[in-house]
Amino acid sequence: MPRLVVVSNRLADPRKTAAGGLAVALRQALEASGGLWFGWSGRITENGTPGEGEVTRQQAGAVQLVTVDLSREDHNSYYERYSNGVLWPVFHYRLDLADFDANGIAGYRRVNQMFAHKLKALLRPDDLIWVHDYHLIPLAAELRAMGCTQRMGFFLHIPLPPPLMLAALPEHDWLVRSLFAYDLVGLQSETDVTHLTRYAAAELGAEAAGAHGWRAFGKTLQVRAFPIGIDVDEFQALAKGRDAQDMYEQLRRDYARRRLLVGVERLDYSKGLPQRLKTFRTLLQNYPENQGSATLIQIASPSRESVDAYAALRTELESLSGAINSEYGELDWMPLRYIHRNVARKRLPGMYRAAAVALVTPLRDGMNLVAKEYVASQDPQDPGVLVLSRFAGAAEQMAEALLVNPYDTARTAEAIQRALQMPLAERQQRHQALLARIRTHDVHWWRESFLNALQQIQTSEDKA
Ligand code: UDP
Repeated sequence: MPRLVVVSNRLADPRKTAAGGLAVALRQALEASGGLWFGWSGRITENGTPGEGEVTRQQAGAVQLVTVDLSREDHNSYYERYSNGVLWPVFHYRLDLADFDANGIAGYRRVNQMFAHKLKALLRPDDLIWVHDYHLIPLAAELRAMGCTQRMGFFLHIPLPPPLMLAALPEHDWLVRSLFAYDLVGLQSETDVTHLTRYAAAELGAEAAGAHGWRAFGKTLQVRAFPIGIDVDEFQALAKGRDAQDMYEQLRRDYARRRLLVGVERLDYSKGLPQRLKTFRTLLQNYPENQGSATLIQIASPSRESVDAYAALRTELESLSGAINSEYGELDWMPLRYIHRNVARKRLPGMYRAAAVALVTPLRDGMNLVAKEYVASQDPQDPGVLVLSRFAGAAEQMAEALLVNPYDTARTAEAIQRALQMPLAERQQRHQALLARIRTHDVHWWRESFLNALQQIQTSEDKA
């Protein structure tokens, strides 16, 4: 196997539990090939010069970690204004929240150019380069412009919107064109593949070239869906750990006479949190037998707090949760425990297992790993039920969940009621099917299928 070079905005220390399944999966591939992981260090230099950043090299076992610092100006334009202020909302179908006037594009290009420049100095001719996520879309194009001919693949972890929405980006033409510098583009779902290829055909005049191939401006690109999974074994081992067990036992004790529902996410407008709280209120209203019993623990871990849209969301959620608790709460029962804090990953399986129902109802999500973690944590003899948004990438693979439209409060509440009342045999059946699928399509399957597909592409000669 050639040396693997992974490029992502942030690096996770793969030796820590908090790093999660993706870091573990990437570490295995990186270790096997004595690979290199390249990205931003997480450090911002206050008075640094834009487009220049200090490089740090570290060795983690067989893997080399190389990181670059960002100047305050670069961080602001590349990361905050363009990646998170424009690409994130547009790719999640939220044109209303995109700040098209923020002028981050110059910084976005500059940082991609700088990364390409620093990375090129470290590359070997037969390296296999795997670039991750929306921060780094034009990286391959920059590398090709510097003469790099290595095989390069890109994986987008977030959704790819329909052509009309993608075209709302002032730089859509340049951005999608730059994808053709890769040999392979991996997306989370078949829906995303359809969106990208329809855009490429309509806007760039791309023509189909064999299975998964698209040809435009003399270049061929493969576009395929590789839905990301979790490391089921690692997660189930976590569930057996002390922290998860303690969490489980404590919740079972505290809620022995109640029905527990759980929601876990970063506080992000893509996650549909206000809609979820309103749906929970509708559940209590329309199915009053749940009053005094159903309790929703909603974890909303802090995220991107400096962005205005997030601050507004936080205020909305605090007000909604206050209203629900004051309207329905009793001296010995509070319907909602809304927690704006991170819960350590090693405790989560205990919380998932104690919950009769998980609410995973994003308005749009690339995949959603919480849905898969919930399934992996269940007791197969007495599993809980997953209520899943049809707008999560995971819905394509998880049809045995109860699929809902999170905007439709009444019908989603009806689905939750059905979940709470589902007979054991049906719960077992659905869980079995879901578990089998997330086990087959786990994070190792994802990594191997992507890298195999990339390696099978014969040549990159037409790319440079
Ligand atoms: N997570 C966590 N603690 C929290 C909230 C989330 O460890 O308080 C983890 C969760 O277990 C999952 C990841 O963060 O592995 C979130 O991934 P997902 O794909 O669901 O959403 P994203 O945050 O990437 O949009």
